[in-house]
Amino acid sequence: MSDTQGMPSTLHSLSAERRVVSGKPISEDMSVDLNLRPGRLSEFVGQKKVKDNLKIAIVAAQKRQEPLDHILLHGPPGLGKTTLAYIIAAEMGVNIKVSSGPAIERPGDLAAILTNLRQGDILFIDEVHRLSRIVEEKLYPAVEDFVFDIFLGKGPAARSLRLNLPHFTLIGATTRFALLSPPLRDRLGATYHLDFYDELAIEKILKRSSAILKIPLEGEGPAQIARRARGTPRVANRLLKRLRDYAQVKANGVITEEVALVGLSELEIDSVGLDEVDHKILHTIIDKFDGGPVGLDTIAASISEDADTIMDVYEPYLLQLGFLERTPRGRVATRLVYEHLGLPYKRDYRPQSQLWNQEQTSTY
Ligand code: ADP
Repeated sequence: MSDTQGMPSTLHSLSAERRVVSGKPISEDMSVDLNLRPGRLSEFVGQKKVKDNLKIAIVAAQKRQEPLDHILLHGPPGLGKTTLAYIIAAEMGVNIKVSSGPAIERPGDLAAILTNLRQGDILFIDEVHRLSRIVEEKLYPAVEDFVFDIFLGKGPAARSLRLNLPHFTLIGATTRFALLSPPLRDRLGATYHLDFYDELAIEKILKRSSAILKIPLEGEGPAQIARRARGTPRVANRLLKRLRDYAQVKANGVITEEVALVGLSELEIDSVGLDEVDHKILHTIIDKFDGGPVGLDTIAASISEDADTIMDVYEPYLLQLGFLERTPRGRVATRLVYEHLGLPYKRDYRPQSQLWNQEQTSTY
């Protein structure tokens, strides 16, 4: 394999974009997401428990010839919540309308969506925890009794009009289960949690995607990418696309183990899939705050990053790796992360149980 000297600027400029390992969609994902999205439950890799339960719910609803019960999908970004919503619609043989919490700004926006639904349709609301309160309150009677109240006029002349809606299924998706209001949580009956995928499942997804995109992927190539994909299909697909560029320029278009390793290091992704921002977070906790505990807002301010992005995108994977521990007083870097970074672990680390007894100073 040739060295990386004289690399064309494409990969360097790509590596400058910090979010290559973010589970949240970025512009380049749009067409790839569509092409690679599995269309049926049988093509959806992994998440066995969720698939099994969904299968039962779908078959039962079909037998009763009734719409599915409302559903809540939650888990970190890029794990397949939107994909599953489309699959559920395909399996039920119904239409799906897609929107998101922030896009439905006013009750009128919600009315326009709801009144265009047909019997059995699926309404998918992504980021459902971001619905405004007033919109959310309008949604309650819609999902409970399939009615929507409209108020006409103002003052003493005001009157209300009750619209009957077709029986539809709401599928809400959220990355932040804790931010969902209890009344909404209660109304979204069936709740499914999506977990990070294991490396074998990610390898399977990579092989499927490489076949669709016609990217030759050989030997240990998929395993090396899977190891660094943060258990997230969207990240795996994005890495595959980035490495395709690299392989086309440097290695006749074939992604072998060697090509994958050099390409991934060019993208500044380490052996477990951490990027520059993860490293900044970890070094901030260790170097500036002696390993923690330190509050999320303080970490966010120290690295000029948005606290919500850290919580949604970076932290779940660091927690999953066991590199961070969440305590009421803030985040703590564990022994594992010192080992990963090759740093001496000198801290008098107190187990979580002792930290819980101390004064709570963090809101997270
Ligand atoms: P989310 O809505 O949770 O952010 P998406 O459903 O948009 O995630 O998934 C992102 C991309 O990852 C999809 O376009 C699809 O290509 C891929 N993907 C997600 N889950 C799977 C899976 N289980 N099997 C195969 N591909 C998947």
